[in-house]
Amino acid sequence: MAYTKLEEETIQFLSQLVQFVSLSGEEQLVAGAVEAKMKTLDYDEVRRDDYGNVIGYRRGGLPGAAILYDSHMDTVMVANPEEWSHAPWGGEIIDGKIWGRGASDTKGSLAAMVMALGSLPREELAGDVYVVGTVGEEIIEGASLAHVLNSTKVDGVIIGEPTDCRLAIGQKGRARMDFIAHGRAAHTANPEEGENPIDKAVEMLRRVRATPQKQDPIFGAGVIEPLLVSSKPTPSTSTVPFECTFSYDRRLLLGETSESLLAECRSLFSDLKGWQIEMHEASFQTYTGLELSVPDFHPAWLMNESVPFVQVALQAVEAAGIDPRTYVVPYCTNGSASAGELGLPTIIFGPSTIRMAHAVDEHIEIEELLRGLRSFISLGREMGKLPMP
Ligand SMILES: [Zn+2]
Repeated sequence: MAYTKLEEETIQFLSQLVQFVSLSGEEQLVAGAVEAKMKTLDYDEVRRDDYGNVIGYRRGGLPGAAILYDSHMDTVMVANPEEWSHAPWGGEIIDGKIWGRGASDTKGSLAAMVMALGSLPREELAGDVYVVGTVGEEIIEGASLAHVLNSTKVDGVIIGEPTDCRLAIGQKGRARMDFIAHGRAAHTANPEEGENPIDKAVEMLRRVRATPQKQDPIFGAGVIEPLLVSSKPTPSTSTVPFECTFSYDRRLLLGETSESLLAECRSLFSDLKGWQIEMHEASFQTYTGLELSVPDFHPAWLMNESVPFVQVALQAVEAAGIDPRTYVVPYCTNGSASAGELGLPTIIFGPSTIRMAHAVDEHIEIEELLRGLRSFISLGREMGKLPMP
């Protein structure tokens, strides 16, 4: 199969990106590679912000809207490398696929965006284009993109995540909450002298399990699932604990806020004493050395399909051979910040499938990567023509 020069370069670029291990908070090598690649392309400005996000900017040859393309540079870890049939950080190109952690989530989108938007002839490009590689998405989704958006005025955002090159116009949100049961410590030889909070925590767990999940006609169920149990003191020998915490992952539906969620959960335990429920604070250290602490609450959002931003995007992907239909994704993305918190027009679009994300033998089909490349070229041509608000 003969590839064009642009296609061949995109394939090699992705293979290179996969070979740089970039766990959350350790994205510096990938950031360097993205920055170096942008400098060989037609970007007018390439810079890194204090979080370590890489931002490439291009001014189009025609006036138009400012569109920001975002893909995260971090990946999750590889738990069992021996289960992989190809080296997880190898970036090997075998059987028409590029293999390795991050190939689909989301270095494929990142490579395709950087190459597509950086090589489109300027006279075909309207408005302003920002291509951003963000840090820390797997830990603090939204926070890094929000940081970029706070200092960059844009009219719309395209989030690169694996959607099988379908156009997603909404997503479920995600929150992590800590359910804390309080008790009283004592020697375990005399447990009656204390009050073991594990009994209360188990009762709280039972009530959460027995409560029917909320339903949404578009997004389905608002799943709630315990993630982690811990007690204090830790470590403990011969001591009845004084505190037990269940951390819950909750998938959010439209309209749910931090306050509504906490109120709903607290109402389940009004007859119990000695407990509290809090939104978890996610802490994250950037590779640039910043210590961030952000509430682990990332709202759901849904775009109206009839707005020009979505309609023009549909026409653009159709011109690249994509079935012009919208859907919503059940997972959380940086769009929680751009659309959910900042109210910016946002779509999620990228090559490959979410089933590859975080999976053993993660890979991307080269044909799919190139479909993404063509789509981002087409989006680059069309989205800037949107009327400016
Ligand atoms: Zn992921």
